[in-house]
Amino acid sequence: MQAHERHEANHDWLKDYIRDIPDFPQKGVTFKDITPLLADKKAFTYTIDAIAHHFDRDEIDKVLGIEARGFIVAAPLAYRFTAGLIPVRKKGKLPWQIESEEYELEYGTDRLEVHKDAISPGERILIVDDVLATGGTARATAKLTERVGGKVAGIATILELGFLGGRSRLEGYETFSLIRY
Ligand code: AMP
Repeated sequence: MQAHERHEANHDWLKDYIRDIPDFPQKGVTFKDITPLLADKKAFTYTIDAIAHHFDRDEIDKVLGIEARGFIVAAPLAYRFTAGLIPVRKKGKLPWQIESEEYELEYGTDRLEVHKDAISPGERILIVDDVLATGGTARATAKLTERVGGKVAGIATILELGFLGGRSRLEGYETFSLIRY
């Protein structure tokens, strides 16, 4: 498949498996619940295959999943690519030496951490999460990846909240989402 064809593929049927939860976890936020997609064998398999299809497996050494829903997407992708898997976690969860980065959410701020030795110098890393909202989480993770010596091969999410402009905070990175709101 050519690069231009990849961009034209329409994955919007997956929207039938994304549930909108108004005012969760706080008033004014519409939470995109991916659990119906995960629970459906056709939708989940398609989601993993379509993300895998967009990237060249020979250009990815490790897949990095962002706690917690990112793990669910990152693990099958790593298996598909025969790549390693790295968890990026919220503060205080990792048992070994860490690097950390403060980040902003659509709702609140927090800190992300990765093991210092999770990435070898120059390894090409695909960063994965379920939702791209303001882009703060993905941006902090990209910085963290680079700080421990990795090269960001791409940032992939199932869905993107385009109206929040997260993509503009990720300039210079190959950012891919299957569906856009
Ligand atoms: P952001 O840093 O704003 O791009 O937020 C991305 C992170 O917050 C991801 O880990 C998402 O799981 C979560 N998130 C933010 N907004 C939403 C939303 N409206 N629905 C579901 N998850 C969200």
